[in-house]
Amino acid sequence: MQVAIDGPGGSGKSTLSRNLAKRLGFVYVDTGALYRAVGLFCSEKGVGVNDEEEVRKTIEGKLKLSIKLIDGEQRVFSNGEDVSEKIRRDEVSMWASDVSKLPFVREFLLKLQRDMAETNSVIMDGRDIGTVILPNADVKIFLTAADTERAKRRHEELIEKGAQISYSEVLEELRKRDHNDTHREIAPLKQAKDAVLIDSTGLSFEQTAQKLYETIVAARNEAI
Ligand code: C5P
Repeated sequence: MQVAIDGPGGSGKSTLSRNLAKRLGFVYVDTGALYRAVGLFCSEKGVGVNDEEEVRKTIEGKLKLSIKLIDGEQRVFSNGEDVSEKIRRDEVSMWASDVSKLPFVREFLLKLQRDMAETNSVIMDGRDIGTVILPNADVKIFLTAADTERAKRRHEELIEKGAQISYSEVLEELRKRDHNDTHREIAPLKQAKDAVLIDSTGLSFEQTAQKLYETIVAARNEAI
């Protein structure tokens, strides 16, 4: 079974998807981690993340990304190095958003994502899962929330990790990323026609998780 969950940054997709995948016995695939790994790799090589030709030369035949499930958790390996923690650093978010605009990068990551969904029952989250990666997914959900609420959650998360960043900086960066993600030419973030819209503004984590769970179970029952 394929469950596609798309939505803007900070909508709680990853935490909710991970939680639901455990509850349903599915594999959780966080596709944002792959764009983050490409952004990190290019940045470490000193390559401008907006320059498609340079990025292509840097990663084509030189970057091997893989996803491994260790104790049921996704780990991302970049040329054999486990970068799962490094890619969570705040500055990597913007690099990921920049490289994700490049057609070559989207093509580069396409097969890896589809392969994961071929061999497992998945909950896959990202920006274009329902529209491009898994157009025939059994369930598509578009998860969103007001940008101020998303920024508040992201800010709390970063502070908990010890980052020194203000709420207004987080909000500004989130709005920039939203703009980037919804306005790019290829695979922009948008709700698939057949996706269920869930707005978590004002809802607790448990309430949102329950809504998602019911949506997925209803679709599974329909499919049986
Ligand atoms: O989900 P996360 O915030 O980790 O994603 C980082 C960036 O990767 C996003 O801002 C987006 O630009 C890009 N992305 C994408 N398509 C996906 C997943 C992430 O373009 N399927």
